[in-house]
Amino acid sequence: MMRLPPFQYLAPVSVADAVKLMGDHGPEAMLVAGGTDLYPNMKRRQFEPTVLVGLRGVKDLAGVRRSSDGGLTIGAGTTLTTVSRDPSVRARYAGLATAAGAVSTPQLRNMGTLGGNVCVDTRCNYYNQSYQWRKAVNFCMKKDGEICLVAPGSPRCWAVSSSDTAPVLWSLGASVRLAGPAGQRAIPISTLYQDDGIQYLTKQSGEIVTEIILPPAEGVRSVYLKLRRRGSFDFPVLGVAAALSMEGDVVRQARIVLGAVASLPREAVEAARLLVGERLSPELIDRAAAAAYRPAKPLDNTDLPHPYRKKMTRVFVARALRRLAGLPEVAEA
Ligand SMILES: Cc1cc2nc3c(=O)[nH]c(=O)nc-3n(C[C@H](O)[C@H](O)[C@H](O)COP(=O)(O)OP(=O)(O)OC[C@H]3O[C@@H](n4cnc5c(N)ncnc54)[C@H](O)[C@@H]3O)c2cc1C
Ligand code: SF4
Repeated sequence: MMRLPPFQYLAPVSVADAVKLMGDHGPEAMLVAGGTDLYPNMKRRQFEPTVLVGLRGVKDLAGVRRSSDGGLTIGAGTTLTTVSRDPSVRARYAGLATAAGAVSTPQLRNMGTLGGNVCVDTRCNYYNQSYQWRKAVNFCMKKDGEICLVAPGSPRCWAVSSSDTAPVLWSLGASVRLAGPAGQRAIPISTLYQDDGIQYLTKQSGEIVTEIILPPAEGVRSVYLKLRRRGSFDFPVLGVAAALSMEGDVVRQARIVLGAVASLPREAVEAARLLVGERLSPELIDRAAAAAYRPAKPLDNTDLPHPYRKKMTRVFVARALRRLAGLPEVAEA
């Protein structure tokens, strides 16, 4: 059995206290919310913080409420179960409700939070292993080693962004509010991520995601499709999020964002551009799906063969758009 290493657990009750504790303890400290990703990672010694600043006692971080502009603000500490069942989320941001409800298992969704899911660690077959396994292959540059075992000549880590909700929130144009030593700021969620398997977040390590801010969803249709081996609890090996802003049956705005194809969610800009100003015909959907397939560059470091995952990008984007268009998901022969 893998055991947790020793650590000190601090339990602030306000965001200000949590920010202060993170500042006091510097790089020795990490934030923990539901702990459903961090604790298993600590058992494998992928992270070795000596101090954990727990967010579960910060009541202000939990809850879903309407914003003054007609959008929705979701506290980062809100559990995935709550997000997936919230009537406003289900009615207006269907893709988000689906993604939150497709994360891991019911037990983990009861503990896991939206903030933790947005910040969840990147994954790789050579990294999500026990300490002994990783030691036997002489580790890799994401933790304790020198080189990348997937691409040994590469100067960077290619671990995969594996959050279900991140691509959906990106497609919906969400922002995140951060609290840190320098105060608060809100940034588009698309700028929270960067293309690096190790430093995959742009925020400072002491900054706390406090809220996820969704813009108004008048006329917006959204969907999320997830590819994984076991429907009961696996991480995505492909996620497709699509959000279309419609005026009648004409697409006014479109965003398609792919998950688990790179170290960050990847926006399929060209595919979305093809849709704007058009009616969703089966032919147009096929062209957009072909365009979305190009930016997907999965590597051989997660479950299922990577050429298959790339091919499935096209299939899943077509299915997602067909669903939003109210067409049968599989084209008739
Ligand atoms: C068996 C198994 C299956 C899983 N399947 C999936 C899956 O299908 N899809 C998926 O997306 N995830 C999956 N996960 C990962 C995890 O359960 C979820 O991502 C969950 O949402 C993480 O939330 P948490 O609150 O538990 O985060 P934690 O484990 O507490 O934290 C995760 C990371 O986020 C940071 N963090 C947490 N909250 C904040 C905050 N407010 N501000 C800044 N940083 C913060 C932590 O420091 C840590 O680095 C799985 C995990 C397991 C063990
Ligand atoms: S992509 Fe390379 S460096 Fe990154 S976790 Fe995998 S093997 Fe390690």
